[in-house]
Amino acid sequence: MSTRKVYTISYGCQMNTLDAELVRGDLARNGYEHVSEMSGADVILVNTCSVRDHAETKVWSLLGRAGQMKKERPDLQIGVLGCMAQRVKDDIVKRAPYVDLVLGTANFRSAVQDLEDLRRSGGRVVRTDRRPSADFLPDAGRQVTARPERHRAWVTVMRGCDHACAYCIVPFTRGREVSRPLADVLDETRRLADDGVREVTFLGQNINTYGKNSGEGGLCTLLEEAATIQGLDRIRFLTSNPFDMTEDMMRRFGAVERVMPWLHIPAQSGSDAVLKRMKRTYTVAQYEEVVGWARTHIPGVEITSDFIVGFPGETDEDFEGTRRLVERSELVQAYVFKYSLRPQTQAARRLPDDVRESVKQARNVAIHATQDVISERRNRAVIGDTFQVLVDGVSRTRKEMLAGREPGNRIVHFPGDASMAGRMAEIRITACGKHSLVGELESVED
Ligand code: SF4
Repeated sequence: MSTRKVYTISYGCQMNTLDAELVRGDLARNGYEHVSEMSGADVILVNTCSVRDHAETKVWSLLGRAGQMKKERPDLQIGVLGCMAQRVKDDIVKRAPYVDLVLGTANFRSAVQDLEDLRRSGGRVVRTDRRPSADFLPDAGRQVTARPERHRAWVTVMRGCDHACAYCIVPFTRGREVSRPLADVLDETRRLADDGVREVTFLGQNINTYGKNSGEGGLCTLLEEAATIQGLDRIRFLTSNPFDMTEDMMRRFGAVERVMPWLHIPAQSGSDAVLKRMKRTYTVAQYEEVVGWARTHIPGVEITSDFIVGFPGETDEDFEGTRRLVERSELVQAYVFKYSLRPQTQAARRLPDDVRESVKQARNVAIHATQDVISERRNRAVIGDTFQVLVDGVSRTRKEMLAGREPGNRIVHFPGDASMAGRMAEIRITACGKHSLVGELESVED
């Protein structure tokens, strides 16, 4: 058994965070001790993201620092995992030859074995060949106790994506869509609930099509079955793209009490011409229809969305369409990204990145300004209401307060005792900001 100290860091989406959790569980099971500073580690593992250039830049800079450390401690082991390993493995080997381990998006579960082998034999392992398939997914045998939060957890239900959005690197880094078997997902969820998890979030790049070729029933069946698991109070899921969504699915979401009234439905643009170039396969009107179904069938639903500004060819008029869509959609929150060209994507190959950076920046600011007014208005509208909040613990941003989430997934800050973490509390909302609510404790369960 090794007692080596390992430092792990993960960039990017929630699925990446969860992949890092899987690796951390494997390491802990094999006697590795986790440390919170890179300087004290014998092993540094970086789980990477390729969605934006910025995310990759951060990894290169971290690798530079790790390389300096290795000059002084040659036995330090350095590994790069995930999307960047998948996308630019040759660059990693060339630019950072001191890296010992490069494991792609479906190979990272071999990290422990590879680290041990490398210690014995030296050299380097580069493995990015394996792709998720029906008989292989890297999710098997999760150690459910190795997770950062005691009462909330994430569960990957599918990997990859069958869509081909022009700007997106996911089809290249994570491959075609593969769903985990229903029984497998339910078993993991049950084990998490047995270990104290009260809220689970199911993850998939395009979760509406979960189980589409399995003959086992899809997302709605998964939600309905998960809702019967003892001890599990809340279920969330993402990402619900506007395509592959039906009104009947919305009806079924709304009918399951434990499915929380929150949907993340990325719009990306409010211009049909831009959506077409993005290959998003829906129109603005269809997006709004999906939002309408959600509001009709899911009582009290809160909707969040993503937008990209400055996509190739986006004119002032196209952008104005996006701004107007934001105004009409009454979202509780919108995440806005400036278009960032990713090599290998269809957009990089076919469409010149022709919107000036200053224009992208101005559009980014304008959408944020529009959304901020709406977010604050929606938050203000619930002042005086009482919500059931699952208490996370001491707030990360307001240390004198506790924080938790209401059913619509907004953060709620309130005064209280840290021992309330993991319990449901009734909180009456008394104030708000753009991104969170503030309230007072009315009662808390025993
Ligand atoms: S739906 Fe589009 S944006 Fe989302 S992962 Fe698939 S290809 Fe990428």
